Amino acid sequence: MSRKPFSTEEKNAIQGGTLYLVATPIGNLSDLSERAVKVLSEVDFVAAEDTRNTGKLLSCLGISRPMVSYYEHNKKERGPQIVERLLAGESCALCSDAGTPAISDPGADLVALCAEKSIPVTSVPGCCAAITALTLSGLPTARFAFEGFLPVDNRNRRQRLDALKKQTVTMILYEAPHKLRATLGDLAATLGEMRPIALCRELTKRNEEIFRTTVSGALARYEGEDPRGEYVLIVGGGEGLPESDETAARAALPPAEHVAYYEKAGLSRMDAIKAAAKERGMPKNELYRLVNTK
Ligand code: SAM
Repeated sequence: MSRKPFSTEEKNAIQGGTLYLVATPIGNLSDLSERAVKVLSEVDFVAAEDTRNTGKLLSCLGISRPMVSYYEHNKKERGPQIVERLLAGESCALCSDAGTPAISDPGADLVALCAEKSIPVTSVPGCCAAITALTLSGLPTARFAFEGFLPVDNRNRRQRLDALKKQTVTMILYEAPHKLRATLGDLAATLGEMRPIALCRELTKRNEEIFRTTVSGALARYEGEDPRGEYVLIVGGGEGLPESDETAARAALPPAEHVAYYEKAGLSRMDAIKAAAKERGMPKNELYRLVNTK
């Protein structure tokens, strides 16, 4: 005999002994889902990367739940304590500072601990800065690599940048505003100045901005302006060749195709002409005339 299907209420009922990964807004409070509100209201306790931030969110929603902190520097002690409570039958919602827990935050370690103990983990999906930026970038989305934050220590950073050189798919990087210039400099030195990039800033907030340009265009802008707010960098994939070979390959294309390459990467027509002219070693006015005469 077939079982009666679960009703929506049954499916949404909070299960004891379960960890809920609850995505929270990355800027716009209206992006919080109805289900997220229900789970946050009904779980036994909330584990938050930043209890002040999550506390503010809960108080905006008129929700009051017991809260514990769970962040990079206490995860070793706090993780097993949360697991004990889950094994004792309590339900827990895990919230990161913003966005989807377990993406560039210690949530992944807690999920691994739960998996080891066969504790059920489920997701209340929602915003993730990486995916929001990728979809807005104008760069290819069919295949991509999430790189998170580049390492800060020189050796690991060098190794990671070298690995990016071979990357042929679109890359997603997180960066803090005060490190943006240094990272753009490293990307220019490793992937070349003409690599297409979209700087996705303050996503879902009042000052949201998508700046589609090349690495050199981004460097030029931030020479005269201090980077402000939160950024995701979406970097076009290469052809897996040394940058000099890639530049030479593009410069060998017919002029219109060369310009089209940069337009397809998200640059405006004029910026695409400028980028292609630089690689061809010719004045941009000349290339403009060439591609605009039949
Ligand atoms: N778990 C989060 C997620 O799902 O997106 C990411 C956490 S990571 C610690 C924080 C980084 O995400 C920031 O440094 C920034 O690069 C990016 N980020 C978060 N919110 C953003 C926003 N509104 N606009 C642009 N980037 C954002």
